Amino acid sequence: MSRAAIKPTTDPDAPPQIAVVGGGLAGLAAAIAAADGGAQVTLYERAPRLGGATWSFQRNGRWFDNGQHVFMRCCTEYRAFLDRLGVTDHVAEQARLSVPVTRPGRRLARISRTGAPAPLHLARSLLRYGPLSVADRLRAVRTALALRRLDPDDPETDETSFGGWLRIRGESDRAIAGLWDLICLPTVNLRADDASLSLAVKVFRTGLLDDTDSADLGWTRVPLSALHGDAAARVITAQGGSIQLQAQVEAVDHGPSVTADGQRIDAEAVILAVPHDTVDSLLPPETVAGQAELADLGISPIVNVHFVFDRQIMDVPFTAALDSPVQFVFDRTEAANWAGDEPGETTGVRSRGEQVVAVSQSAAFDEIGDRPAELIERYQSALADLFPLSAEADVLDAVVTREHRATFAGRPGTRRLRPGPTTAIDGLYLAGAWTDTGWPATMEGAVRSGNQAARMALNYCRGANASTPAWQDQRERTIA
Ligand SMILES: Cc1cc2nc3c(=O)[nH]c(=O)nc-3n(C[C@H](O)[C@H](O)[C@H](O)COP(=O)(O)OP(=O)(O)OC[C@H]3O[C@@H](n4cnc5c(N)ncnc54)[C@H](O)[C@@H]3O)c2cc1C
Repeated sequence: MSRAAIKPTTDPDAPPQIAVVGGGLAGLAAAIAAADGGAQVTLYERAPRLGGATWSFQRNGRWFDNGQHVFMRCCTEYRAFLDRLGVTDHVAEQARLSVPVTRPGRRLARISRTGAPAPLHLARSLLRYGPLSVADRLRAVRTALALRRLDPDDPETDETSFGGWLRIRGESDRAIAGLWDLICLPTVNLRADDASLSLAVKVFRTGLLDDTDSADLGWTRVPLSALHGDAAARVITAQGGSIQLQAQVEAVDHGPSVTADGQRIDAEAVILAVPHDTVDSLLPPETVAGQAELADLGISPIVNVHFVFDRQIMDVPFTAALDSPVQFVFDRTEAANWAGDEPGETTGVRSRGEQVVAVSQSAAFDEIGDRPAELIERYQSALADLFPLSAEADVLDAVVTREHRATFAGRPGTRRLRPGPTTAIDGLYLAGAWTDTGWPATMEGAVRSGNQAARMALNYCRGANASTPAWQDQRERTIA
């Protein structure tokens, strides 16, 4: 098959040709930022769809995501990316952080904030947090203040485990399971005992402790594919970019160039935005710092078990769970009901009174190999313990999504394995949630890395043209 290849040009006034390999959030952000900067972009994605680790599928007339995704108000570049895609209306954002915590047979607890300046904004909630003893709550406040004094960029913090550090400070097993893991698991995709202290400090400081409103949560009200992949495709094509799906890039080399379907295509700059364990197979040896060790970043799986109940079983949009095999449960009825951008069109899930929920299990090393039927049985029973109404409800449908390679594993010592955007090949830049963004593997990290790679690629192309080329001049006039 012949691809619509980039055609390098010798015309100094022509826009630079930038190839982006990988259509996950990093590649999409890079492609859009490069196109917005005036480049002619070609995006190569091996899958038949865009969105990478964020995708959706339809089953029996309802939409399901590959796994629940949540962001925080501090995810500024991800939120700006949603704005650029024109989909901010499709996400829900909390006015104030409030995380319900459900336990079987116990009163609902909450981790929430007030409007007080940070870090006082969390004090009331921590001091009243029912799942912990009073001694554990007081210690948690002191530990939070100590976390705030740590520097996530200090290499020593990355050599230490978050759980080890918590235990040295006297945090009990109960406090780690009932409070610290509640935040560490969904953000670092590891339990505190396995996570790098540096990544935990990044999450707790940027996400919770440094600013009052940074942890207010957001989530999509539509399927992830509609939010990211479909919307990004519209923006890229509107900017004159080309999207090549089912285009597996086989090599990226000097030039820079990409080879897809046996065809070598030259570009002025290339942004490689594929998963960390794919990079080495695509590049000449030693193109990236520590290239041969990238696979040591490891992988951490995520499992979601989706249920369609014939009635409402929970009355909060989501909840964490304690004293239960469930980590988090989300009400996905609205997204399951999505029928496109036309107002008023729905699949009728809501009007039939059904509730669609997703049980989301991070760092699911013990469960990723379990049979779907086992997982469904385990979590149906666990939901019945958490929400008595579900014990009486009929399950109309249930489906399991397993992401074996959901994220890299942010264990102690991983920071030095994460390369920055530059490579040994002129004009070739790296992007991906796994690159050295300082963030754990998140949507924010992916978008940040893509934006940065695009800036560097555009600068490289500008440098290649000594005088201001017409495409850049025109772009600057448009912005002004
Ligand atoms: C189930 C699940 C739940 C998650 N929950 C959250 C959450 O709540 N909050 C959060 O912030 N983050 C969450 N994440 C993490 C987040 O989704 C990822 O960090 C982010 O989407 C990664 O984006 P990326 O572009 O770096 O990589 P990817 O999405 O992996 O994109 C890489 C792309 O490259 C393509 N590719 C690979 N090889 C080639 C090739 N040779 N040629 C062409 N294309 C190629 C792949 O097909 C893929 O589309 C979750 C992830 C999963 C899986």
